[in-house]
Amino acid sequence: LSAERAASLADAARLRTELDECRRNLDRYKDATGKDLAALEAEKATKSVLETRTKAQAELNANLADQAALFKEQRDLAESRAEKNGLELAALRARVAELELALQEAETRVRDGEVVRRKLHNTIQELKGNIRVFCRVRPLSSEEEGSRGGGGGGEQQQTDININNRVALLSVPASGEGKALEVFQPSKGGTNTATDRDQKHNFTFDRVFSPEAPQEEVFEELSHLVQSALDGYKVCCFAYGQTGSGKTHTMLGSQDNPGLIPRAMHQVFETAQHMAAAAAAAANQQGGGGGWKWDMKAAMLEVYNEDLHDLLGPGPPTGKKHTISHDDKGNTTVSHLHWVDVADADKVSFLLNRAMERRAVGATAMNDRSSRSHFVFTLAIEGTNASSGQKVKGLLHMIDLAGSERLDRSQVAGDRLKETQSINKSLSALGDVISSLANKDGHVPFRNSKLTYLLQHSLSGSGKALMVVNVSPALESLPETLCSLRFAAKVNACEIGTAKRQITMNK
Ligand code: ADP
Ligand code: MG
Repeated sequence: LSAERAASLADAARLRTELDECRRNLDRYKDATGKDLAALEAEKATKSVLETRTKAQAELNANLADQAALFKEQRDLAESRAEKNGLELAALRARVAELELALQEAETRVRDGEVVRRKLHNTIQELKGNIRVFCRVRPLSSEEEGSRGGGGGGEQQQTDININNRVALLSVPASGEGKALEVFQPSKGGTNTATDRDQKHNFTFDRVFSPEAPQEEVFEELSHLVQSALDGYKVCCFAYGQTGSGKTHTMLGSQDNPGLIPRAMHQVFETAQHMAAAAAAAANQQGGGGGWKWDMKAAMLEVYNEDLHDLLGPGPPTGKKHTISHDDKGNTTVSHLHWVDVADADKVSFLLNRAMERRAVGATAMNDRSSRSHFVFTLAIEGTNASSGQKVKGLLHMIDLAGSERLDRSQVAGDRLKETQSINKSLSALGDVISSLANKDGHVPFRNSKLTYLLQHSLSGSGKALMVVNVSPALESLPETLCSLRFAAKVNACEIGTAKRQITMNK
């Protein structure tokens, strides 16, 4: 029993020990577990923070992905734009190069144009008016040469004439810059050269052409005025002088040696064509269309015995006359006058020939109609610029006047007297009109002759005029030469108001 008891006591002791052990373990466990729970709690908190962060990060990522997609889209767009811009840039560079070239060309043209314009401007300044007077001395004819006694070779720029041992001398002094003319009137019984006893007459004009001056030199001075007609001015060019002094030679010339009218026609049509082409080229570059379009018409008439005669058309019906009327816009109309469309200089030259034939038919043996009537050639110039709407209306009158020689009234009668009176009347009216314009008279006697009335608008404020006074160097012509030169000097002193262009704008 005691053994049993001892055994159970031992068991009890062991159990107690074990219990103690368990208690200690439990305490230890409790300790440990308590710590872990705190850690666990802490971990839980951390986890929740991390979860929140992760969620936020995911959202951020999603945003970034969106942004990346957007950036990519934008990059693609930018790339395609850059490519397109590259192509456009190349095109722009080519266009710039093209424009630079055009600009250079235009600048050259402007410069060239400026040179001409300045020259014209200077000339106008120099002349202080719109009427310019030139004097042209024709060479001696072969008959006049033939009747010259002896050698008599003159100095340069001089034409000396020795007929029956008398001398007349027309000299263009070099110092006069082509503007001065000296006329020596020989004293009775004069010698082969000009002497102190000779009476000397000095004249100055805008230009003096010596007998050697070729047609192109005379035309060069007119060409500025031809351009003015294309610019919309009314231009008149007269040839004045006694019969045989070279008016028709100056105006018409011959086939081989054309005068002012055919040369002016070449210039008009050539320049018109140039202007049309230049304007068309400029318009094409700007993608527009159309340049200058020209409408040219010619009329030719004769003023004989204060009546107008159409040289191209049939004239007025029987019993009627041509009448001249003006409107307040500066336009002049001649009733029943036949205008012919002309597109080139050849057409004009064809018409000129026809007109001259008709004039010749009107002449009789006693009566050279061509020297007893004024021949008026008119070119009406109308230009329209399709792109700018600008319209110019110019007029070019070229007039071969009747011979200015005075006839002794006691020697003529009948038709010849009437002719003479008509010519005297119209030529002196021309001189009066010009000086009256110069004096700025309130009344200008345009109506005193058909010729001045016809040319009223071209001679007054809006016109430009050029008179070529032709003189013969022959001694026998000296009185008439002096008369012509005095008439010219009177006209030369004149200043007509500022010329105006006739331009209208459509647009
Ligand atoms: P107008 O018409 O004044 O009566 P013309 O023009 O018929 O005079 O000239 C008379 C002549 O003189 C013509 O034979 C013409 O060829 C000649 N003549 C006139 N001027 C010149 C000139 N500058 N050079 C050469 N010949 C001329
Ligand atoms: Mg003539």
